[in-house]
Amino acid sequence: MHPESEQWFERARAVTPGGVNSPVRAFAAVGGTPRFMASGQGAWLTDVDGNSYVDLVCSWGPMLLGHAHPEVLASVGAAIARGTSYGTPTTTEVELAEEIVARTPVEQVRLVSSGTEATMSAIRLARGFTGRDVVVKFSGCYHGHVDSLLASAGSGLATLGVSATPGVPASSAAQTIVLPFNDRAAVEAAFAEHGASIACLITEASPGNMGVVPPLPGFNAFLAEICSRYGALFVSDEVMTGFRVSRSGQWGTDGAVEGWVPDLSTFGKVMGGGFPAAAFGGRADVMAMLSPQGPVYQAGTLSGNPVATAAGLATLRLATEDVYARVDHVAATISQAASEALSAAGVPHRLQSNGNMFSIFFGEVAPVVDYATAQTQDTDVFTAFFHAMLDAGVYLPPSAYESWFVSSAHDDRAVQHVLDALPAAAAAAAAAPSRKDTR
Ligand SMILES: *Cc1c(COP(=O)(O)O)cnc(C)c1O
Repeated sequence: MHPESEQWFERARAVTPGGVNSPVRAFAAVGGTPRFMASGQGAWLTDVDGNSYVDLVCSWGPMLLGHAHPEVLASVGAAIARGTSYGTPTTTEVELAEEIVARTPVEQVRLVSSGTEATMSAIRLARGFTGRDVVVKFSGCYHGHVDSLLASAGSGLATLGVSATPGVPASSAAQTIVLPFNDRAAVEAAFAEHGASIACLITEASPGNMGVVPPLPGFNAFLAEICSRYGALFVSDEVMTGFRVSRSGQWGTDGAVEGWVPDLSTFGKVMGGGFPAAAFGGRADVMAMLSPQGPVYQAGTLSGNPVATAAGLATLRLATEDVYARVDHVAATISQAASEALSAAGVPHRLQSNGNMFSIFFGEVAPVVDYATAQTQDTDVFTAFFHAMLDAGVYLPPSAYESWFVSSAHDDRAVQHVLDALPAAAAAAAAAPSRKDTR
C-alpha cells in the first residue's frame, strides 16, 4: 500500500506539471502512482509509506557505489562544512578533472552541471571549431533536452530533421540529421550528401536510452573514421556509460582496444556521485577554442561546485576494478535469472546487455540494433512484469525503454531478494494480454 505516495503525488500535481521534475518518474508508461522515496541505503530505497525496494534504477545510473556510501558521505560532509559555493577556482575541481583525464582519452575537460549542458556545450564547441552547423545523431539515442538534439528523422534518410517536440524551432531541428543506429550505409549516405556542412556526429557510446542496444562490432570505429575523413568531429556521449561500464567507460572496452579516440566526449551521472556534475572534454586543440582561452563562449555559476565535485571525486576514487567486477557479477546474475524465469514461464523476450547495463525486450523481438527494432517490443507485458516486481519490493525502471542499473552495494541479500521476486513476476507477464492478442 502507498497512501502517502498517492497524497504526495496529488500535492505535486497541483504545483508541478505532471507532479514530477523529470518525465519518466511519473510512471506514465506503466500506470499507477510513482513512489515518493524517503531514503536510500546501499542497494535499498524506502518510500514515504515505509515500503522498501531493491533499487535497479540507481538514480538512472549515477549510484555505482549504492546509496549513502559512507566514504562519499564523509567527503560531502567535509566539503559542506567548508561552505557550499564560492564562484572561484577550487582544488577539488582540478583533482576531479585530473581523475577524468587519467581514466579516459580526453586531454582536457570542462566541468558543467548536467549531461544536457555537457552535450549542448560540446556541440557548440564542435560548431565553433569546424565553422559548420549540421549535427548528425541517431534515432533512439538521447543526449539530454538540447534543442538541436530533440529532432526526429525527416522524410527519407539523409534529410534534415524536424522538431521532435513543440518548442524546438524548425530551424534548429533542420540543422540536425537523424539516422538509424548501427546503419553504416545511412551514415555514408548522409556524409556523402552533407559532409561539407557537418560539424559533428554525436552518438551514445553504447545506447541505453532505447533499452540497451550496443553498437555492432566496429561501428564506433567506423564513425570515428568517417568523421575524420570529412573533417567533422566525433562526439561520444558517455553520460550514461562513462565510469559505469568500466573505469574508462565504453571507450575502455571499445576505442582503447581498437585504437581510436573520440574528438570530444561527454560525461555525467556516475562522475557526480549523485550530485549535479557533468563534463565535456577531448582533444586539447579543440578544447583550446573554449573561453576564456578561445572564442567559443561557455560558463556556469555552479560549474565545478565544491560539494558536487567532492562527491564525484570520492566516487571515482572508490570505483576500483573490484567495484566493477562486483557490479558486473551482480548484473550478470540478475539478468540471467530474469531471463531464465521468463523462459520458464513461457514469456518470449530478448535480454540485451553491455557490460553491467542490461534490459529486457518483451515479445518475439529480433536482435535489437536500432530504435525501429526496439519499438517492436511488447510494452504491455513489461508493464505487468514491472508492477509484479514493484509489489514484491524490486524497483525497476518504470519504462521498457530504459537500462536497468545495479551497484557494488547490491550484496547477496539484495540479489536474492530480486531472484525470489522473479517467478511470480514472470507468471504475471505470462498472464498479461499481449499487444498481439488485442490487435
Ligand atoms: C542522462 C543522459 C544525458 C542527459 O543528462 P542530464 O544530466 O539528465 O541532463 C545525456 N546523454 C546521455 C547518454 C544520458 O544517458
